[in-house]
Amino acid sequence: MGEETSDVAPAESPSGGGQAPRAGRRGQVRVFGNWCKGCGLCIAFCPRHVFEAGADGRPLVVNPERCTACMWCVEHCPDFAIVVQPIEDDRERRDVA
Ligand code: SF4
Ligand code: SF4
Repeated sequence: MGEETSDVAPAESPSGGGQAPRAGRRGQVRVFGNWCKGCGLCIAFCPRHVFEAGADGRPLVVNPERCTACMWCVEHCPDFAIVVQPIEDDRERRDVA
């Protein structure tokens, strides 16, 4: 079996998480479902409510645009099942050019 990841991004946020940050640090979140044991830490403590629990208790990335790449989930996941890639905000760079 290959790596199973969840990067679900529905058109509308089911949690009503508000608007994405206009500028600043952002991250691209990937959860490796076959490593995750579904402890729920990332779902409970992500300060930006990026995750929601799926039917099996594992996190779904439901608000990817809200991630600020704070790395809390990466540092606290006991199974090393989350990877966050920081994203450069090109808009900021264009604004000052
Ligand atoms: S890096 Fe921070 S904001 Fe992004 S998903 Fe993890 S805990 Fe949430
Ligand atoms: S903290 Fe890690 S093991 Fe726990 S639910 Fe999140 S991804 Fe899965």
